Amino acid sequence: MKITILGSGTSTGVPEYKCDCETCEDARIFDSKNRRTRASIHIEDNGHHLQFDVGPNFIDQIDRNKISWIDAVLFTHCHADHISGVNDLVMPCRKQKMDMPIYGSDEVMNILQRNNDYMFDKNRFQGGGIGHLIPHSIESKFKLCGFDLTPIHVEHAAVVTFGYRINNVAYIPDVKRIPEESKALLHNLDVLILDALSFNPKHPTHLSVGEAIDIVNELNPKQAYFTHIMHRLDHRHFREQSEEQGITTPQNTSLAYDGQVIEI
Ligand SMILES: [Zn+2]
Ligand SMILES: [Zn+2]
Ligand SMILES: [Zn+2]
Repeated sequence: MKITILGSGTSTGVPEYKCDCETCEDARIFDSKNRRTRASIHIEDNGHHLQFDVGPNFIDQIDRNKISWIDAVLFTHCHADHISGVNDLVMPCRKQKMDMPIYGSDEVMNILQRNNDYMFDKNRFQGGGIGHLIPHSIESKFKLCGFDLTPIHVEHAAVVTFGYRINNVAYIPDVKRIPEESKALLHNLDVLILDALSFNPKHPTHLSVGEAIDIVNELNPKQAYFTHIMHRLDHRHFREQSEEQGITTPQNTSLAYDGQVIEI
């Protein structure tokens, strides 16, 4: 299985507009690992391709990372940094000559249909600039393109939010708390890609690095990568930054970065 980190950034992206901190200044250098577009991953196995979230950087992300096909899109939740690129699914639909199956909670499906009605009604809306979507509301474990997929219900703001388990990989980009019944679905992971916004444990809707490390230590995946990262975390000094906060980073844990490929 090949996992590509298309975006590792929080909702503002990094660099932050008009911020001149050291991380943001570094992030303005092309190819810096601190340069972070909005959170998204792409997974490929046995010729099948799943796309997770379609944020505002989507079309550049799939171009830059040479993504050649998308069989289906899975959405984690309805926040704009995860759904606002959905109109750009027109190009995969056009090149692949197909309508795109999309999966997520009832809430995400309803919001997408409300915001992008022209993508859901083939009889009323036609034209080269429109991609058509086939919605699927999901709640629990299902199979898709040979993958075992489990939506992982997590707490994050006031919206229904899923992480996903994909075979032995879990992707949970936006979360403040993982309920015990969801943790029970996250044992024996090869890879856990988890929210770790900043060092601030008081943030109401996202895990801090310390909180994310507690979860890594509890679930004990073989490898853990932190994503949805804001500019306070600097790739060049992450372990030192953590130590300054009194946090020991486990050896199997690192910050994800845009363009990173994880093969298992
Ligand atoms: Zn987000
Ligand atoms: Zn900054
Ligand atoms: Zn969110």
